Amino acid sequence: MDSTEPYQLHVFFFPLMAQGHLIPFVDMARRFSSHGVKVTIITTPLNACLFSNTIDRDKQLGLDISIQLIPFPSEEAGLPKGYENAGSFPNFSAVALKFFNGLSFLQQPFEELLQEHRPDCVVADMAFPWVTDVSAKLGIPSLIFHGTCFFSLCISDSFRRYTPHENIKSETDTFVVPGLPDQIELTRSQLSDDLKKKTDLSKMMERIRESERKSFGILVNSFYELEPAYADHYRTVVGRKAWHVGPVSLSNRNIADKSERGNRASINEHAWLRWLDSKKPNSVLYVSFGSMARLTATQLLEVAMGIEASGQSFIWVLRLNAEDSEQRRITEEFEKKMEGRGLIIRDWAPQILFLDHPAVGGFLTHCGWNSTLESISAGVPMITWPLFAEQFYNEKLITQVLKVGMSVGTMEYQRVGGEKALVKREVIIKVVEQLMGVGEEAEQMRSRARELKEMAERAFEEGGSSYADLTALIEELRLHPRPTV
Ligand code: UDP
Repeated sequence: MDSTEPYQLHVFFFPLMAQGHLIPFVDMARRFSSHGVKVTIITTPLNACLFSNTIDRDKQLGLDISIQLIPFPSEEAGLPKGYENAGSFPNFSAVALKFFNGLSFLQQPFEELLQEHRPDCVVADMAFPWVTDVSAKLGIPSLIFHGTCFFSLCISDSFRRYTPHENIKSETDTFVVPGLPDQIELTRSQLSDDLKKKTDLSKMMERIRESERKSFGILVNSFYELEPAYADHYRTVVGRKAWHVGPVSLSNRNIADKSERGNRASINEHAWLRWLDSKKPNSVLYVSFGSMARLTATQLLEVAMGIEASGQSFIWVLRLNAEDSEQRRITEEFEKKMEGRGLIIRDWAPQILFLDHPAVGGFLTHCGWNSTLESISAGVPMITWPLFAEQFYNEKLITQVLKVGMSVGTMEYQRVGGEKALVKREVIIKVVEQLMGVGEEAEQMRSRARELKEMAERAFEEGGSSYADLTALIEELRLHPRPTV
């Protein structure tokens, strides 16, 4: 290397094997690589298949990016072979504990790779809290990725600091989350069990927080202008170093990258494109509950009836429980009835391509952070239907702070095996008509969504806030002492 050239950093990226983490990780890794960093993504064989074409294309363009395989510990974790991704299990909640406990078996192969390659930095998923210690042993700084926004990280911090939910008896009374820049209210019923009692998950969350405290800082898939008060609050009040590098989905610039992102779509690209091209701008509602959630047959029926009665054109991405014949029957009948008016896609859709299409004017979403930010980046307002994880927090950001969404009003965190309160068709009809209609509130949301889209693009471009934060991080890592040999 020419001695005048800056030192080329080598960064390991180690994502959790779940689409909501793997996808932004790959986008982020590619972003680092486009800034001249040598990048190695560590994952298991079946997960690598989900994005290896994209990496091959990057390599052909001259980027220094590659994949390192480690075996998935199916046997050690007591899981069936052939399932290496949280979203691939027919019923993930039934095996979640085994899956997360099994991740500790990845420590040894990961440590061997660290010893062999001695990268300058590791970006690890929060699900691998041991990475911070094993990296530190070799003098390698580690960054943690949670996969969510500053807003939700600040809410989680407030729960730990002030435990406001512990003084509330009722599950359904609202209470204020203290210490935040805005007055945000939640109910106990919207919180995960690990906040309310000691569970295996709450113990794991404690380990995660400990590893975060010892890490070099966190990476956030967001942009400063989206949530400035919360980005500042996180850095000053929570008191951790953080770099915002998003929206990382904007790393996907060509059709091939967009259409293969996360998986191969189960629909022919030209078929849906022709269909969407035939629709008026902002006239199609996109419906998807992400890569993990599955609705019950009764809930699917309410959604189907609600969409039908609303008269709305739509694309609905369905993830069914393979063993439930009732789910199949309901959705097949619905598909036949809706031919021409709606498109049903099974299993996997090219989401960012859909959201970017001018015909798509609304997104009925479960408020997973990736989907939320992708909708914002595409200028598409949302109907919010949170189910679990931090989705109820994200909903508040969408509806209350950014004001680019309307809620269906779900109040209950979806628990494993628990009874789920139904969202009735009447509610769905009303909110779909409101969001997709011509009323003043909907017009204002569309206009705010367009502004946020422009802000997102500016933040990501050269000179923008996310671009600048990434450049600053790379510079800081260059100045960090090299790993010990
Ligand atoms: N996704 C997709 N096609 C699908 C379902 C999901 O491309 O049919 C992508 C979506 O664009 C997002 C990710 O999968 O990047 C889902 O992450 P999110 O945080 O929204 O929800 P999760 O799946 O983690 O619940």
